Amino acid sequence: MANRAKPAFSTDKGLLQTPELYEYILETSVYPREPELLKELRAITLNHPRAFMATAPDAGQFMALILKLVNAKKTIEIGVFTGYSLLLTALTIPEGGKVMGLTVICITAIDIDRNAYEIGLPIIEKAGVEHKINFIESEALPALNQLLQDPKNRGTFDFGFVDADKINYANYHEKLLELLKPGGVVIYDNTLWGGSVAMPEVSVPESRLQTREVAIEFNKFLAADARVQISQIALGDGITICRRL
Ligand code: SAM
Ligand code: CA
Repeated sequence: MANRAKPAFSTDKGLLQTPELYEYILETSVYPREPELLKELRAITLNHPRAFMATAPDAGQFMALILKLVNAKKTIEIGVFTGYSLLLTALTIPEGGKVMGLTVICITAIDIDRNAYEIGLPIIEKAGVEHKINFIESEALPALNQLLQDPKNRGTFDFGFVDADKINYANYHEKLLELLKPGGVVIYDNTLWGGSVAMPEVSVPESRLQTREVAIEFNKFLAADARVQISQIALGDGITICRRL
């Protein structure tokens, strides 16, 4: 738009005050503990034109902590891309064991883009955790509806991670509340949308405006949703953790 002011927005600055502070957190607390295979997956993802979509390693580290805290065994992920958060989940949760000789799959991972998933797949295989994953190449909503048709799935998931099309977050939330156990946790990614949710509209790049509106509405909706306990934190691009009551 012609009269739009220069965006007060920088994608590399994140939500912290300085890039140096973010670098400090990564160098001090995150990189030294990041598993080698996640580093490897991050490195090959850099060749992808949309590498910026991958989960930030500090957000990933936090997610692994939550997975352990809720003792997650059965999880669902919407938005896989090359699989950083997926591999992290698979490395963190326990083996599913066997039922009647068949390995129990513990992670349902949904994405419309199998090609991106296949970029990270060799590393997932190298990690020896592929058997924990059921990758569903699909639009997420029909896949969630399909899962809900099986009563064995209702109220059985310990954990969900949502990192796909923001416009559908509220729809995913309704489905996930049916899939999660009471006490189960879902994390929504990018809920601060580069900090734009709190910027004056004129300062936000036009390409970000629509999703900014969606994020603002979703944040308000979650804040008023009595079915969940929430916490929104400025990690990565902003995440909101919801615990099903
Ligand atoms: N969590 C991933 C990671 O750790 O690298 C990043 C996910 S990326 C931000 C978003 C992904 O959502 C893309 O791979 C895209 O194909 C997928 N996606 C977008 N809209 C979708 C939809 N309606 N249904 C399923 N997947 C979708
Ligand atoms: Ca994300």
